[in-house]
Amino acid sequence: MARLLVIGCGGVAQVAIQKCCQNHKTFEEIIIASRTLSKCDDLKAKIEATDCPVKITTAGVNADDKEDIVKLITKFKPDAVLNVALPYQDLTIMDACLECKVDYIDTANYEPEDTDDPKWREVYEKRCQEKGFTAYFDYSWQWAYEEKFKEAGITALLGTGFDPGVTSVFVAYAKKHYFDQIDTVDILDCNGGDHGYPFATNFNPEINLREVSANGSYMENGKWVETKPMEIKREYDFPKVGKKDMYLLHHEEIEALGRNFPEIKRIRFFMTFGQSYLTHMKCLENVGMLSTVPVEHDGHLIVPIQFLKTLLPDPASLGPRTVGKTNIGCIFTGKKDGKDKTLYIYNVCDHQECYRELGSQAISYTTGVPAMIGTALVVEGIWKKPGVFTTDEFDPDPYMDMLNKYGLPWVVDENPVLVP
Ligand code: NDP
Repeated sequence: MARLLVIGCGGVAQVAIQKCCQNHKTFEEIIIASRTLSKCDDLKAKIEATDCPVKITTAGVNADDKEDIVKLITKFKPDAVLNVALPYQDLTIMDACLECKVDYIDTANYEPEDTDDPKWREVYEKRCQEKGFTAYFDYSWQWAYEEKFKEAGITALLGTGFDPGVTSVFVAYAKKHYFDQIDTVDILDCNGGDHGYPFATNFNPEINLREVSANGSYMENGKWVETKPMEIKREYDFPKVGKKDMYLLHHEEIEALGRNFPEIKRIRFFMTFGQSYLTHMKCLENVGMLSTVPVEHDGHLIVPIQFLKTLLPDPASLGPRTVGKTNIGCIFTGKKDGKDKTLYIYNVCDHQECYRELGSQAISYTTGVPAMIGTALVVEGIWKKPGVFTTDEFDPDPYMDMLNKYGLPWVVDENPVLVP
């Protein structure tokens, strides 16, 4: 039975924590620590009203401050730390885990809050030149902890959300059970949900808008090919959702899969967007509202994208009003027993069913469930080995079983329509 420290108490954390409570054979105590203590206390009250046997404790923490996290870990002595705050905090939380020799789990790879920081910028510019993609986030910062985690005998499991996370497990599963050789992977993320607002993001607006407004890229024959934002558009008829426009984006699992499965000749990632979302985003970008660079307003320094976040609906509040389904999965081509083979593995998740079960919309749900699963596999010792890993580096079978058990059942289609 494990004691878990969860850092962050937003949309994803609320699902992950409630799912840990459903898995009370693994988790006996959860310490919920975040910047706004009242959110942690509200969630504790909600869980305690359900007769959940898991002990819940709450605390405030500034996860940008390593010493603050170390104090928390020293006080509560958790077996593992699940970071579902923001990618900005990944390195401080990893540093604290290292100091205290505690396993670390997250759902998104590191990116800096201040992209104008000259120290970070120097490393970034070098990486852009060497690797050929310009996204602000990449795995190099966290992979750099590999030796330190090995020496400390602790595990870091990176990116156990849906994408990355489940999508990478789908690749490992396809390779283990269906292919001798995978040639191409297309990761398709479709949100067919409608929340009724003219514009809102389904998870943290700052992280979401940064990702979507950046250049796209994909990997071909081991090299990055970069595109302009939204340059490559395709239409796809998603099972249980219908026809949607989708656009090629840079996405973090491409980097890890490219490293761990060098045989794959092409890896692409597509996400669906409606025209209204794209028009709003372009307009906000054109007027400077997506900028992370502080500007002076009435004698105060404000960061435009953070101010925009204040104006937009809280993603955690979209649950009651969002209807429709998500469909996220991977389409593979390759070879089995010398013959050509295609395969599609996907999950369909219904926004309203998630809301009825946990009070959340499907984007937080599809991220929070795999966050719990990855954490459970680490604390149970099934996915535990010293070093820094992504989810495609372990046996996929126990993870796939838990997806079925904890609300994200998957479908295997051996005759899918391919993406042109
Ligand atoms: P939210 O903004 O809803 O929640 C973030 C939480 O972290 C909030 O509770 C916030 O506190 C807290 N937090 C932020 N900064 C600090 C800090 N310095 N110290 C302590 N707590 C802090 O985000 P989401 O729940 O939507 O997303 C959580 C994570 O999941 C993100 O890293 C996101 O990128 C990732 N994600 C991954 C996906 C995947 O499929 N892999 C998909 C979707 C999201 P406060 O309440 O005070 O704001």
